[in-house]
Amino acid sequence: MDDAAVSLLRKVSERKPLTEDECVYLLGFPEDSPEADMTVCFADRLSRIANDNTGEIGAQIGIITGPCIADCGFCKYAVGTTDADDFVMSDDTLRDYIGRITEHGDVTVISLMTIHSFDFEDLLGAVRVAREEAPEDVVIAVNTGDLTRQQCISLRNAGVGRAYHAIRLGEGDVTRLNPFDRLETVRNLMSASIGVVTCTEPVGPEDSAREIVRSYLGSEKEGFIHGSVAKRVPVPGTRMGGCGEVSDRRLMHIASVLLLSTAWKADVSAPVGYYGGFYGGFGKVYAEYAGNPRDPKDYSEKSEGRTVGWARRKLFEDGYSKIRKADGSTVPLDRDYLRMTGSL
Ligand code: SF4
Repeated sequence: MDDAAVSLLRKVSERKPLTEDECVYLLGFPEDSPEADMTVCFADRLSRIANDNTGEIGAQIGIITGPCIADCGFCKYAVGTTDADDFVMSDDTLRDYIGRITEHGDVTVISLMTIHSFDFEDLLGAVRVAREEAPEDVVIAVNTGDLTRQQCISLRNAGVGRAYHAIRLGEGDVTRLNPFDRLETVRNLMSASIGVVTCTEPVGPEDSAREIVRSYLGSEKEGFIHGSVAKRVPVPGTRMGGCGEVSDRRLMHIASVLLLSTAWKADVSAPVGYYGGFYGGFGKVYAEYAGNPRDPKDYSEKSEGRTVGWARRKLFEDGYSKIRKADGSTVPLDRDYLRMTGSL
């Protein structure tokens, strides 16, 4: 075992953050090395202690989809390559999704997702429907294109409590968006008192460890609630569909180093320091309904099948013994619970 890697993990156990160079050093080991395994085990252990081995489920619903002018090279909705039609979810369909998703009280967040270009009134209407239909303790979140400050205030007044917004790896090169516009939206959301979460994504094989670490640690300084990491999924027919993908093992290695680097930040609300969020693993799982940029089919729940039931099974298979409910209580996650919720 490499002595320097061991001493970096010891540094984390002494509740000290890791520097950019130290993260890059730990990511220099191959994903199948003992050093990587040790890092992954340590991060997993730390997160389970922090969340008392409790899993949490969020759900995303693609409410406004279709050809998107942002033209991201990795997305099935990119205007240059997509064959998707314009779609705005009806109020009744949204009500139906929310009723089913919240049926057992164990989904804490519902995120309404749109493409970059959309009619703001459609989004505002959907937020009002979601806020009306979901139990009060379920957070309504948005994952949208860029927003003005006034739009953010309107969303907040309609009941939005959280937002996802990312300045992606390669933003402006592999997308047609301006990173500064993305950042301005983040600031608009924050100034409207909407908590913003982010993610270093979409990580591909061409992204260096330093770029990834810099993006993650840089986001921490912007005031996000938390950051995490996600990989690029090759979607057939997109410009980057043939560019390969990092393995799940390497992604876990990256996520573990990032989690450990900021695990002891006391001034943030995520369970393990700054790291967190439904994209980032470690007991947080996203169910995905309707349109999804990574899924070639129109209704993701019918192809990838990442329903709330799937999320419960995934947490059970990953060894989580409880699920956090929207009201903050927890329930044992066992076969009886899976049976009772129709998840088997
Ligand atoms: S990832 Fe989002 S912004 Fe980019 S093309 Fe797809 S829907 Fe548009």
